Amino acid sequence: MYRIHIMTLFPDVVGDMLCESVLGRGQERGYIRVDCHQIRDYTINKQKQVDDYPYGGGAGMLMQAQPVYNAWKSVAERIGRKPRCIYMTPQGKTFAQQDAKELALEEDLILLCGHYEGIDERVLEEIVTDYMSIGDYVLTGGELPAMVMVDAISRMIPGVLGNGDSKAAESFEGGLLEHPQYSRPEEWKGKTVPGVLLSGHHKNIELWRRQQSILRTWERRPDLLEQANLTSSEQEWLQKQKQQRQDS
Ligand code: SAM
Repeated sequence: MYRIHIMTLFPDVVGDMLCESVLGRGQERGYIRVDCHQIRDYTINKQKQVDDYPYGGGAGMLMQAQPVYNAWKSVAERIGRKPRCIYMTPQGKTFAQQDAKELALEEDLILLCGHYEGIDERVLEEIVTDYMSIGDYVLTGGELPAMVMVDAISRMIPGVLGNGDSKAAESFEGGLLEHPQYSRPEEWKGKTVPGVLLSGHHKNIELWRRQQSILRTWERRPDLLEQANLTSSEQEWLQKQKQQRQDS
């Protein structure tokens, strides 16, 4: 079973989401387990204070090294070795689908959520193996980033997605975005479902979907296309589409 440990000051924020949807099912079926650890429980002062002023002055407070370290030590001892520990931070590498796949190969993973102005550097040096961000913006805490990562990683763990869910054709697989999708009814607000999808001709449907993926990736995320390994006939087809757009 894949185990994720979230170290946070706000375990309740995280807890609710873990019971829902694919993630909830994955836990119920025993493919994945997510445990939240309250860092505040590891303080050694009476007030259970976890933050203090930064040396050198400046705005805001900082999470202190001691409770973070003790929380980590308790989890690491349970795991029985020094685990991979990811600090959620806007200063980290931007988390991408490839990271989700790679992290899904671990057995135990610690996600460390900061708050206030962040965490004392010394404990980060001691316990953190990776620094990851979910994008170039600053949030108030690492809980939402941790949830984003847990969701994306858990979808990569065998068994978590039911038979009805398929990740093979999803966006970022093979460097492309997913093709457009349609459900019933066949006509809605005068818009009809592309005829090929109603044809029952699987080969044509596959071709149409692949071409739509290529087109959509070019329109919305052309930066991805370089990694997409298009065949030469697909490249020619795309050139024609580009030309047609220019001419029209
Ligand atoms: N002072 C920090 C800085 O400038 O880099 C930002 C601290 S932020 C207000 C508080 C916490 O939110 C961070 O310790 C981190 O855990 C989390 N956080 C904020 N933005 C994030 C992002 N884009 N990705 C991942 N974690 C983030």
